[in-house]
Amino acid sequence: VKNYLDQIKKNAHLNAFNEVFEQESLINAKNVDDRIKNGTAGKLAGMVIAIKDNICYKGHQVSASSKILKDFTSIYSSTIVERLLAEDAIIIGRCNCDEFAMGGANETSYFGPVKNMADETKVSGGSSGGSAVAVQANMCHAAIGTDTGGSVRQPASFCGVIGLKPTYGRVSRHGIIAFASSFDQVGPITRSVEDAALLLEVMAGPDDYDSTLAQQEVPAFSAHIEKTGKKKIAYLQEAISSPGVDAEVKDVLVKYIDKLRADGHTVTPIAFEQLDYLVPAYYILAMAEASSNLARYDGVHYGYRSPSADDLQSTYKRSRSEGFGKEVKRRIMLGTFVLSAGYYDAYYAKAQKVRRLIREKTDQILNEYDFILVPTAPEPAFAIGKEEKDPVVTYLSDIFTVQASLAGVPAISLPVGNNSKGLPLGLQLLAKHFNEQELLNFSKYFL
Ligand code: GLN
Repeated sequence: VKNYLDQIKKNAHLNAFNEVFEQESLINAKNVDDRIKNGTAGKLAGMVIAIKDNICYKGHQVSASSKILKDFTSIYSSTIVERLLAEDAIIIGRCNCDEFAMGGANETSYFGPVKNMADETKVSGGSSGGSAVAVQANMCHAAIGTDTGGSVRQPASFCGVIGLKPTYGRVSRHGIIAFASSFDQVGPITRSVEDAALLLEVMAGPDDYDSTLAQQEVPAFSAHIEKTGKKKIAYLQEAISSPGVDAEVKDVLVKYIDKLRADGHTVTPIAFEQLDYLVPAYYILAMAEASSNLARYDGVHYGYRSPSADDLQSTYKRSRSEGFGKEVKRRIMLGTFVLSAGYYDAYYAKAQKVRRLIREKTDQILNEYDFILVPTAPEPAFAIGKEEKDPVVTYLSDIFTVQASLAGVPAISLPVGNNSKGLPLGLQLLAKHFNEQELLNFSKYFL
């Protein structure tokens, strides 16, 4: 813990943490140490973990990196925090993220952007940017993020670490600040596949507080990380043919396709007909759900209340106007629009149908192949300030991550080296629903 606290201090300028639980983590380390000595310690004893600042931890502040929740203290812990603590993890702090997890560069945070350690002029990725940099810069052993449309996988890929989004329904969302409830999943950001497996098995499994969870038993993933046989892999041919994908990202994908083939795996290009609809369907649905989820921040129930409010209407209006940032407001407005009576069928209902189609098509591919292989993002970490200029460009860069989110299947981003400028590159594998074990096992091939 001391070592990580030193690293956190040394790298404070990266802005990865919203708060460090310094004294508390030292005390917890001492307690865990006692339990290790008397043989009663849990599976995660000694594992120092940072959590994204949209995960509730009783008695600790949780802000979702928003002014509207600044100074808000959780009155209960999320299920995943309880499970991590029950296995003797030591939580060292809460990490910066995009405001309410809305973004892909950690630039919408009220507390400012997180810098990428590989190049401090570049973004960390988002929305779990602080969590990814915390692992990248060795400020913790592993971190927990949330992934709605890529927010664990994309920052992991920008920072050269592993990011796993479990199957929707695998990990409890109880106590996670909701963004888009039919997509949100908690996932680990780690340096090794073994750690990802261990954290997943601790966090996953049925929970009375989240009715969307699958009831099936959680395998002991970490005990079964083993070499796999020959696999059938599909890759999206657009990832190589599209001019929108960075040349060095294509190169690393091609390199792995060749290597996989040389090693006897079957690798087949496929066309994904709905490719152009992935980003629009995701954003319509995610914004619709967000506009509904964020209705609870009314200046009364939680957090910030405008000092200039003088009646109920102005309490709502001013607290929300002053409390939310630009990107969150944009999404609330667009989300409200697509849900409004005159446009519901044209946008929201249509996007639901498209989602169904995407899920069916993805399942079909995954019935035929073991995995889908794609880049995690079309380009490596970009310059800080770019997202501000054009949000649509950032939305489009989610093209490869939102498929797994729309389909609900598990996906992992794996670090596969750096480009010529020293920026990390990531490749992503998608697997069948609840097939995390195979996904983790095959991930070892890339590392
Ligand atoms: N970049 C995507 C968005 O802005 C994904 C965010 C996330 O997964 N939380 O919605």
